Amino acid sequence: MCPHCQQRESSRYRDGSCDACYRRNYRQTHDEQRQRDLELSREWKRRNKQHTKQYDAAYRESRRKQCPACGGEMGMHATVGCRACLEKHWSARRDQIVMLYESGMKVADIASEPGTTVNSLNVQLVRLRKRGFIGSRRG
Ligand SMILES: [Zn+2]
Ligand SMILES: [Zn+2]
Repeated sequence: MCPHCQQRESSRYRDGSCDACYRRNYRQTHDEQRQRDLELSREWKRRNKQHTKQYDAAYRESRRKQCPACGGEMGMHATVGCRACLEKHWSARRDQIVMLYESGMKVADIASEPGTTVNSLNVQLVRLRKRGFIGSRRG
């Protein structure tokens, strides 16, 4: 006799339960186990995510570089200098371009400086003209 339902014949199962009771018990424990596993993995993921985030932040902090020009903190992807110094650099470069351009120098000659191409200089000149740094000029 099955000890669970006390109705059906017990079968080959060790605890003597019938087929129906065994299957029901099995499914129940199986579901519970699955539920526990699911919760565990969710918990693990959550904790791991937090951990990863902390690790990333620490890593980023340790990677932050100092600006070689002013010693200030540089941005995440900055390689040359901090934002303020870059802006200073670019405004100096802009003044230089404006000065050379206004003095009548050819675009190709201004662009012969290292790090400048005629194309990028032309783009810059269009921008400068729009913002009123330079007037219209032929050439
Ligand atoms: Zn039973
Ligand atoms: Zn700086």
